[in-house]
Amino acid sequence: MAGIYLHIPFCKRKCHYCNFFSLATQKYREEFEVALKMELKTRSIELAGQKIDSVYFGGGTPSLLSVKSLQSILILIQENYLLGHKAEITLEANPDDLSLAYLKELKSSMVNRLSVGIQSFDDSELQYVNRVHTAKEAQESVKNAQNLGFDNMSVDLIYGIPNSSMASWEKNLKTVADLKVSHLSSYSLTQESKTAYDVLVKKGRMQAPSEKMAIKQYQFLQNYLPSMQLEQYEISNYAAQEKYALHNTNYWRGISYLGVGPSAHSYNGSFRRWNKAHLKDYISSSLEGNTVFDEEKLSLVDKWNEGIMTALRTKWGVSISELESFQNPLWLKDFYAQVAVFEKKELLFQQDQHIVLSEKGKLFADGIAAAFFV
Ligand code: SF4
Repeated sequence: MAGIYLHIPFCKRKCHYCNFFSLATQKYREEFEVALKMELKTRSIELAGQKIDSVYFGGGTPSLLSVKSLQSILILIQENYLLGHKAEITLEANPDDLSLAYLKELKSSMVNRLSVGIQSFDDSELQYVNRVHTAKEAQESVKNAQNLGFDNMSVDLIYGIPNSSMASWEKNLKTVADLKVSHLSSYSLTQESKTAYDVLVKKGRMQAPSEKMAIKQYQFLQNYLPSMQLEQYEISNYAAQEKYALHNTNYWRGISYLGVGPSAHSYNGSFRRWNKAHLKDYISSSLEGNTVFDEEKLSLVDKWNEGIMTALRTKWGVSISELESFQNPLWLKDFYAQVAVFEKKELLFQQDQHIVLSEKGKLFADGIAAAFFV
């Protein structure tokens, strides 16, 4: 079992908060597509013999690619990898790209899951963070996709936007409930360094995110879940009827994946690799059959720490038997001692040989995970 991630580094314009590798231009798009295919061919050896059960077009804005391009990339994957018949094939899409004509064409392609970058159904919030689409386009794109039969669809929402309110957040959640989407990813707005948002906050032209507001909106979402018929299965991810995102769930389970495209990351159980985040360099090196990536071999310490960090964020929690497989009694002893401390504070609990965060513990997930690090 393995996955493929494809990084499409083009956007119509940069959202203020964005720190992904993406360029507000479509220059070199054709050359990029050729280079991406070349990398897929060259690196197929890395997943030789492994069944691919998820393919994920992320970015950037992959919906800027034509359906013809997406389909030709998928056919190339089919020809060079063991693509499973029931593989989850996700396209990250921005609402303004999902015209009826585009969606119709997409429905006849191999893409079977959409992850729509809505972020908010409120125009003033969208403008505040420099999103390119409108609230109307956001609603229409989801409804049109559903009417065409896309039944595996996720939407993204951001909470903690400074010009939002509890009322606008409730309206956002009610819209998701009314649309009956089967998956929601919801993140707090963060002020990452080297983003336009960071610069504008420092110049006093935008407000820094309010942690107090973000926590209130997160907790409101937790309480609103029954109305949306969604279950939280990871701190930032919610699904109806177990429609968990396979691609992401595989990341958290430590399943191998190959990342192609500039800045894309790969993991194979022993190594992490990351491609150079530079479009022109990526294109030229890939066309020479020589993708430029850095890599690091994961030590046992890395594997222990990363395993806890990711598993603790999920509803399944940290598996005791997986920790025991490290065969390090000292690490395990410290782990149990720390579990006892957090249990007393009602931040986590034990369930079926797993350590799971409580509702209160989810607010401190990163700090709790760090306390288990060796
Ligand atoms: S659309 Fe996504 S990748 Fe592009 S700038 Fe906005 S947040 Fe970044």
